[in-house]
Amino acid sequence: MRFVHDTLPQRVAFGSGAAAANLSSEAGNLGAARVMLIAAKAEMHLADTIAEDIPVALRHDDVVMHVPVEVAERAREAAVSNDVDVLVSVGGGSTTGLAKAIALTTGLPIIAVPTTYAGSEATPVWGLTEGAKKTTGIDQKVLPKVIIYDAALTMSLPVEMSVASGLNALAHCVDSMWAPNADPINAAFAAEGIRSLAAGLPKVVADPMDLDGREHALYAAYLSAAAFASAGSGLHHKICHVLGGKYNLPHAQTHATVLPYVLAFNGPAAPDAERRIASAFNGTTFGGAEPGSTAGPASALDGLVALKEELNAPRALADYGFSEDSIAEAAEAILPSVPPSNPRPVSAADLRALLRAAWSGSDPRTAF
Ligand code: NAD
Repeated sequence: MRFVHDTLPQRVAFGSGAAAANLSSEAGNLGAARVMLIAAKAEMHLADTIAEDIPVALRHDDVVMHVPVEVAERAREAAVSNDVDVLVSVGGGSTTGLAKAIALTTGLPIIAVPTTYAGSEATPVWGLTEGAKKTTGIDQKVLPKVIIYDAALTMSLPVEMSVASGLNALAHCVDSMWAPNADPINAAFAAEGIRSLAAGLPKVVADPMDLDGREHALYAAYLSAAAFASAGSGLHHKICHVLGGKYNLPHAQTHATVLPYVLAFNGPAAPDAERRIASAFNGTTFGGAEPGSTAGPASALDGLVALKEELNAPRALADYGFSEDSIAEAAEAILPSVPPSNPRPVSAADLRALLRAAWSGSDPRTAF
């Protein structure tokens, strides 16, 4: 075994119903005197319920998906002119993304309180869009200093969004197995993330108010993002980045739809990843199934397909506005960004086949 692994400096406070108390003590630790509380209009009431004991100088609800530059500029000006010293973001990846855009130019510390499973809070990746062009970058300044996880804040996330967002986290886990900086530490996080998502998401679907299911999904969201932050973007993320940016497809649903096709393509060429993912779907993170056990999926792909069916998850890119006419163009746009370390060589024809299958929602087990 030979690898170099960076562990990112971050504090994680996890506790259902504990966000207000944790936020108060963590803001105190950072010496916060003038907090900018950032939340989308729909989530500002959640933010207000946990911010009563911190010194809020400014409430900011101008949040837009994919962080358009003009939205980022307005937020940066508001932060500077109000002399804020700590950013507190409460919301999904779009809200965390806006806090990161402010931190990128001001260096202000972020306390992130995520309310979806997108995982942006555990990465140093920022993203901005200008017109139809999305730019991303890596900067340690944007990595939140503290993450506060409280599953009670995710209860209101609608089931469909919970499923799509949970599969977005699952995609971080699966792609971390073969991304350019994949290593055994990332793989351990990712496998445990898959196990926890497979345990938690069916409970959320059966009962959106099931706290145990929500906690499993949120815990997995952190593991998935920590693995992804270290492993980098693999084939799956390169494909989804182009689809999201060029065709304005919804982030979580695109990841949820494309993932089985990437797993079908790469799995046979990545036996170690295949074994670990299948084990995780069997509920065991580090080993195989019990000897003689007939329970659980035979392969990683069987596990994913069965989970997606149980969750009634997003199935076809055609349902999200991706057109058949765009397949060839998208394949050409993705090809240059395919990581050279991908376990299997990728041609434009492979990408066209993958995108066609994902567009139609055909059975991934027969796609290649
Ligand atoms: P989002 O933040 O846009 O939220 C999706 C919807 O869910 C919104 O309508 C929001 O108002 C609603 N919502 C959020 N929390 C809720 C709650 N608790 N109850 C009810 N409704 C709630 O979407 P997302 O999928 O969380 O994040 C997507 C964005 O995050 C994309 O822009 C993506 O590029 C970015 N992202 C970045 C990274 C990174 O590392 N930088 C990682 C993952 C995602």
